Amino acid sequence: MIKETDLENIPDLLIKFNEPLSNYTYTKVGGPADILAFPATIEALTELSAKAKATDTPVTVLGNASNLIVRDGGIRGVVILLEKLDSVKVAGYTIEAQAGAKLKEVTQVAQANSLTGFEFACGIPGSIGGAVFMNAGAYGGEIFQVLVSCKVMDAAGNVSVLSASEMQFGYRHSVIRDKNLIVLSAKFELQAGDPTQIQNEMDRLNFLRKSKQPLEYPSCGSVFKRPVGHFAGQLIQEAKLQGQRIGGVEVSKKHAGFMVNVADGNATDYEKLIALVIEKVKENSGVTLEPEVRIIGEK
Ligand SMILES: Cc1cc2nc3c(=O)[nH]c(=O)nc-3n(C[C@H](O)[C@H](O)[C@H](O)COP(=O)(O)OP(=O)(O)OC[C@H]3O[C@@H](n4cnc5c(N)ncnc54)[C@H](O)[C@@H]3O)c2cc1C
Repeated sequence: MIKETDLENIPDLLIKFNEPLSNYTYTKVGGPADILAFPATIEALTELSAKAKATDTPVTVLGNASNLIVRDGGIRGVVILLEKLDSVKVAGYTIEAQAGAKLKEVTQVAQANSLTGFEFACGIPGSIGGAVFMNAGAYGGEIFQVLVSCKVMDAAGNVSVLSASEMQFGYRHSVIRDKNLIVLSAKFELQAGDPTQIQNEMDRLNFLRKSKQPLEYPSCGSVFKRPVGHFAGQLIQEAKLQGQRIGGVEVSKKHAGFMVNVADGNATDYEKLIALVIEKVKENSGVTLEPEVRIIGEK
């Protein structure tokens, strides 16, 4: 396991010890990370990864923690947040963004540069790294439609560039997960558009989102994947589960696909409620729901 002294000489690296991850997750649940690291340069990330590898310390990379339930026992080893690696560069029709840049901000940069094609993502609260990992999507758009290439680091610290066709994108899935890669940055290609029209479309989608989703509460977005031929929210509604609560976590009354942390709930509440919803929906409709949210860490 990595020691404090292994890390103190790495420049551009902020470290917190035994840091509660509930301070960072959208659900507001999650126990402590042994070590929470914020590299501000790729060199710092590389050095940290090398030290972790040399000491057999497990490494977990998080983005904006908007699609996660971190269990109450927290995460052992090093948890890396890439929020300081957030540069966004525009060149012609191309935008290159580092993994820690917020997806929402990148869509705003696209609008400000009269670039269309990224409007679908304007309300998704993830980072670029998390969005690529998940192949995030909304309102008919998905990351795979705009991504040209992705710079990644493997566990040995090797950096390479994957083309879109090498990303093996699927529904909320990419090769990043299968190969345990770290997304460093991603390049997107958009088209010339009218900034007013782009803004109007983003406003329309954000209005839709606000009217349908319980954005006033902590949550992790849609908890379940869309089952083939069905909508998870509808199946949950039909099973009369809206408002069902375990501890402080409840199936949203506004959008049945969301579970909201209404009263200081914890990850155990989330996991129990997920299991209950899977069981009841199966009983009611015969369909087995599969979580979209990633559940990580120790009980
Ligand atoms: C209110 C709300 C609305 C949402 N709406 C949508 C929606 O419309 N569409 C949609 O697709 N999703 C939606 N989500 C879910 C979530 O925002 C997306 O899945 C988003 O892409 C996750 O990005 P993140 O940075 O938060 O990733 P995290 O939640 O931090 O991580 C998700 C996974 O990605 C991995 N990861 C993150 N960064 C990296 C990296 N740099 N390298 C390697 N692995 C990495 C993590 O290890 C983890 O396994 C919503 C969530 C909320 C709370």
